[in-house]
Amino acid sequence: MKHYCFSLTSYARRTTREVRVGHHTIGGSAPILVQTMTNTTTHDVEACVKQIDQIAQAGGRLVRLTTRDEREALALGPIGEQVRQKWPDVALVADVHFVPAVAAVAATTADKVRINPGNYNDRGGRFEELVELCRKRGVALRIGVNHGSLAKKIFDIYGDTPEGMAASAMEFLERCRELDFHNVVVSLKSSNVRVMVYAYRLLAKAMAEASMDYPIHLGVTEAGNLIEGRIKSAVGIGALLADGIGDTVRVSLTEAPELEIPAAQQLVAHFASRPEEHFDEVSWDDFSAYQYTPRPYGTPVLWSEVGNPDDYIVIEATSAHPVQEWRSKIVGRGHTKPIILHRRYTTANKEQFAIEAAADFGVMMIDSLADGIRIDNPNFSEEELNEIALIILQAARVRISRTEYIACPSCGRTLYDIETTLAAIRERTNHLVGLKIGVMGCIVNGPGEMADADYGYVGGLPNRISLYRGKTLVERNIPQEEALDHLIDLIKADGRWIEKS
Ligand code: SF4
Repeated sequence: MKHYCFSLTSYARRTTREVRVGHHTIGGSAPILVQTMTNTTTHDVEACVKQIDQIAQAGGRLVRLTTRDEREALALGPIGEQVRQKWPDVALVADVHFVPAVAAVAATTADKVRINPGNYNDRGGRFEELVELCRKRGVALRIGVNHGSLAKKIFDIYGDTPEGMAASAMEFLERCRELDFHNVVVSLKSSNVRVMVYAYRLLAKAMAEASMDYPIHLGVTEAGNLIEGRIKSAVGIGALLADGIGDTVRVSLTEAPELEIPAAQQLVAHFASRPEEHFDEVSWDDFSAYQYTPRPYGTPVLWSEVGNPDDYIVIEATSAHPVQEWRSKIVGRGHTKPIILHRRYTTANKEQFAIEAAADFGVMMIDSLADGIRIDNPNFSEEELNEIALIILQAARVRISRTEYIACPSCGRTLYDIETTLAAIRERTNHLVGLKIGVMGCIVNGPGEMADADYGYVGGLPNRISLYRGKTLVERNIPQEEALDHLIDLIKADGRWIEKS
C-alpha cells in the first residue's frame, strides 16, 4: 500500500499547525472555520460594511474582499474599523489576484492576504517583501492556486493539471519555510470537482512528505447556485473532509454571500465531532490517478432504475464514517456484481440533506468504487431523491443528465447582475443534456476559470457580454439584452440545440 498522510479506512483530522487570522485560528484543534466573500465594490466602503453586517448576522466571521488596486487595498482599513464597531471579531481577507504591489498595501490593512502564486514568478523579492510585511503586522497569508491560472513555468512542465497545482503551491510553501514564516494557509481550487479533489490529495501527500503542516482552505470554484451549487460544493469539499483534510471552507455560490454561510455550516457540521474510528485495512495502489476509470458495468444507476435487485450487491453504510465503511467493504473484496451504495437519512431540511448525501456518496463515485446509489429518506418523495442522486452523479462527473452551469459567485469585479442572468440562462437552456455553460462576471478571471465549459457568457464591459466557444472568443461586447439570444444561436449553429418538449 502506498503511504499517504491519511488512511483509507480510519478517520482522523490531518494534523496542522495553528494560523492566526485576526481573532480566529485556522488549523490545530480549532473547529473548521467557514468563510465567504463580498460581491460589493471594495472601494464602496458603505456597501461593503452593510454586506459584511449581513454576513456576520448569518454567522460568518471571516470575510474576503476583492482587492484590485491600491485604492481598494486602502479601503479595507475603514471597512474593518466600521465593521468592528458592531462585530469586533470579524476578520477581513484581501483577495489579490494579479498585482504584487497591491498585496503589499493590503498587508498593511487586512488580517490575511490571499495571493495567486501564478503572479509571483520572479525571484526578485516581491514575495519576500510581502512576507516581511505580513510578519510585521501578524497578517496571515493564503497561497491560493487556481486551476486555469498557473504560472507559465509550472504550466510548461505539468500542463493545467492537479500535479501542476500542487507543485505551484509547494514551491511557495517552501519559500515561506525558507523565510521562517509560517502563518500560511494554502488552497487549490477548481470548478471541476474531480480535479479539485485530486489536487488537494496530492498537496496533502506532498506536504506530509516535506514535513509541512500548513492548514488547508477548501473550495470548489464556480459551483453555481441552488441545490446544484450546494451539492457540487459538498461533493468536492466533502470528499476531502471525509479524509480529515481541510481546516477552513468556502461554499461558493452564485447567490448573496450570506447564503453561503449556512450551506458551509451544514457541511462542516456533517463532519464535526466524528469519533476516530478504524475499519478493516484495505490496499489501494493508485489513489492519485485522477482520470475517471470506468467500471465494467456502464453508467451508474439510481435505485429506482434497478430491475432485479439480485443482479446487484447492495452495500449499506450504517456507521458515522460511511466513506471509510464502504471502502473497507469494497476495495479488494473481489465483488463480481455491480455495487450499489446504500445509506439511510432522516434529515428533514432538503438543503442540508442534499449536502449530507453529496458529501457521503460523491467521493465514492469520484473514486470509481460503485455502480449505483440508493439514498433513503422518509421525508422526501422518490422523485426528489432521484433528483438529488442525479445531481450528485453529475457533480462527480460519472453521469451527465442536465446542463451544467459553471457560474462564478460574483465579486467586486462583476460587470452585470449575475444572479438574475444565470436564472434567465438556466430557464432557456436547462433542458439541454450534457452541455457545460460558463457564466462569468468578468473577463479578467472568467475565461481562465470557466475551465472546460463548452460555452462561456462573460462580462466584458459594464452590461456588455463576450461569448466564448470553449476558450475561443466568438463575439465581443454584445449588449446584455441581446446576449442570451446570441448564445442560443451559437449553440444552434453548432447543432447542439434541442427544442424544449
Ligand atoms: S470571474 Fe471575475 S467576477 Fe466572477 S468571481 Fe471571479 S473575479 Fe469575480
